[in-house]
Amino acid sequence: MKTLINKTRLNKIILPTSTAGSLPKPSWLAQPEALWSPWKLQGDELIDGKYDALRVSLQEQQQAGIDIVSDGEQTRQHFVTTFIEHLNGVDFEQRKTVKIRDRYEASVPTVVGAVSRPTSVFVEDAKLLRQQTSQPIKWALPGPMTMIDTLYDDHYHSREKLAWEFAKILNQEAKELAAAGVDIIQFDEPAFNVFFDEVNDWGIACLERAIEGLSCETAVHICYGYGIKANTDWKKTLGTQWRQYEAVFPKLQKSTIDIISLECHNSHVPIELLELIRGKKVMVGAIDVATHIIEAPEDVAQTLREALKYVDADKLYPCTNCGMAPLPRHVARGKLNALSAGADIVRRELAINN
Ligand SMILES: [Zn+2]
Repeated sequence: MKTLINKTRLNKIILPTSTAGSLPKPSWLAQPEALWSPWKLQGDELIDGKYDALRVSLQEQQQAGIDIVSDGEQTRQHFVTTFIEHLNGVDFEQRKTVKIRDRYEASVPTVVGAVSRPTSVFVEDAKLLRQQTSQPIKWALPGPMTMIDTLYDDHYHSREKLAWEFAKILNQEAKELAAAGVDIIQFDEPAFNVFFDEVNDWGIACLERAIEGLSCETAVHICYGYGIKANTDWKKTLGTQWRQYEAVFPKLQKSTIDIISLECHNSHVPIELLELIRGKKVMVGAIDVATHIIEAPEDVAQTLREALKYVDADKLYPCTNCGMAPLPRHVARGKLNALSAGADIVRRELAINN
């Protein structure tokens, strides 16, 4: 029955808009325009503050006319580590410096024993969001491969083994989120854009383990990261055509994942690579998160029109390239409005043509 409810809520809308995940936090909750920004509140005040921010974030999405809404990731400090903080087997005091995404060095926690999830992590937050709206909601979780890439493993000594353990844990969390009324669960896998052999050998299989038996829709988000310096420097080395997706799309097309979330706007990804995932639903990134310039609705519409050459209209979900947490709030609001207005332009065109 849950399946029916979750899927009906989604199927009503053509070109349903959403964001890849994070939105800026209010300045009274955390320092603005920063990743891993420390909280400004503590104890019960912090819990209340996070929930207030979740409500504000939801309202901002609703005012912009976003169709599939989220919590804006207001209750987490970071898209990967906040989830890991709730698990057993990881010591946050023992830190090691590792190279994340084969790109930049970061001080990360250490896996010191068998990993497990003693209690649910985001389920109460998701219930709160569910109570606030009857719109479809999407919830983001880190993907197994991106989780192992954000840790030092001193227990399993095998990236693959640890990823399988995380996949099992993510599946437990995802089932509870679906039962709480989440319509789409998205797994963030920026690591899929870097470790191609591992993605094909076991990364996609681990993702399928994480979504096993879920009653809601499932998505994987693969991007070129936030607009931070380490990422923009890396992008400069990728040449004029970014063909990373080409290495993983064929296997993803055959996978059990429902939706693939991608970076398409202002990027150097050749749009024809979408042909490789024909048949899948696609969250098309039509908002650039690496610039403060707010897109004109027509720019958004143009990216969506290009994508429509390779994605059927009933499978196209206009979205942002990645999360918007590090952007100023007025910029993020402007980009949400542009996304909504751009999707509207294309909806009208589709209505005329039919
Ligand atoms: Zn992203």
